[in-house]
Amino acid sequence: MKVSVLLLVLEPLLDDKTALGIVRSIEEMGLKGELVRSAAQQVIFVEGDVRALSTHKFSQIRGVARVVRTSLPCPLTISDSERAVTLPGWNSDSRTLTIGGATPPVVMAGPCSVESREHISDLSARVKAAGAHVLRGGAFKPRTSPYEFDGLAQEGMRFLFDAGRKSGMPVVSEVMSPEQLQCAIEFVDVVQIGARNMYNYELLKEVGRTGKPVLLKRGISATIDEYLQAIEYIMLGGNNRVILCERGIRTFETRTRNTLDLSAVPLLKSLTGLPVIVDPSHATGKRDLIRPMSRAAIACGADGLMIEVHADPDRSISDSEQAITPSALAEICKEARIIYDVLSAGDMKTHDALRRSTLLGAASP
Ligand code: PEP
Ligand code: MN
Repeated sequence: MKVSVLLLVLEPLLDDKTALGIVRSIEEMGLKGELVRSAAQQVIFVEGDVRALSTHKFSQIRGVARVVRTSLPCPLTISDSERAVTLPGWNSDSRTLTIGGATPPVVMAGPCSVESREHISDLSARVKAAGAHVLRGGAFKPRTSPYEFDGLAQEGMRFLFDAGRKSGMPVVSEVMSPEQLQCAIEFVDVVQIGARNMYNYELLKEVGRTGKPVLLKRGISATIDEYLQAIEYIMLGGNNRVILCERGIRTFETRTRNTLDLSAVPLLKSLTGLPVIVDPSHATGKRDLIRPMSRAAIACGADGLMIEVHADPDRSISDSEQAITPSALAEICKEARIIYDVLSAGDMKTHDALRRSTLLGAASP
């Protein structure tokens, strides 16, 4: 579905009073007008039911140089307002946890797979002590080979849930089908849709109906536009509590598991206003690269990280090459906060400017 938007390009150097007067008269027509200024031009976005309106009506307004009719392929997803996601707090003071907006980075950490009740319970306490905020752990595991361990299924969900409540952290876990979603819904605080299922439209529609926060990973070879349209499926169902995750895309490079596309982070933030986190574990597949890529992710504006951790990484049942220890995680959590604190003051302004200029670019005729 495309939603029509009118763009009024204002005359060069038009004064503020006249520009704001145009916005007011648009609002008097029952429409929404948003004035966007860049160094080169001033533009008003006219939103509302503009399909039936003739552009002539607007081109006659004094100060309007040009009227452009455009349409956004993802009207619910593309937004220039911050849309932070709040998760329930299970810690002793019940404080909720916010991802996105002007909040410090949120770290989601835990094993690739939940291996047993004891394993997740022990690791949960350790990742919490290291500074993580959300416990991750796969129970329904997508495995490239059908001969590999594919998780403890609903029992694993239960172990993860209990471990999260015990250590006081919300939990996130992946589902791959609407049936698994039904199994998992009461056990997770955030539903993860993995990279392989970004194109699973029935699943996207179903999580759209749940109202639970969703962590939607970017598909292995998905363009940003395909990713935006996958988000749109969820939002169309009425759920806008969506967290995005750049987890590396497939390129010609073989030394790393995937190629971490960090440019997607500020781009997605500017296009959608949604929280964007980075998963350096699946992006690189290499233990030694997790720390430098985590630093880079926070430096470019990521709202958080998702990292695979194991008490004994070499013995991890799945993805052992990319698992790090709880003490390595502690270093990353500490550094993430330092980098965020150093950059945050000036950075918000940069994001704001970028968001506006990207929207202008996306809407040009
Ligand atoms: C995971 O996070 O457990 C996972 C399988 O990641 P991805 O979907 O990014 O491959
Ligand atoms: Mn994994």
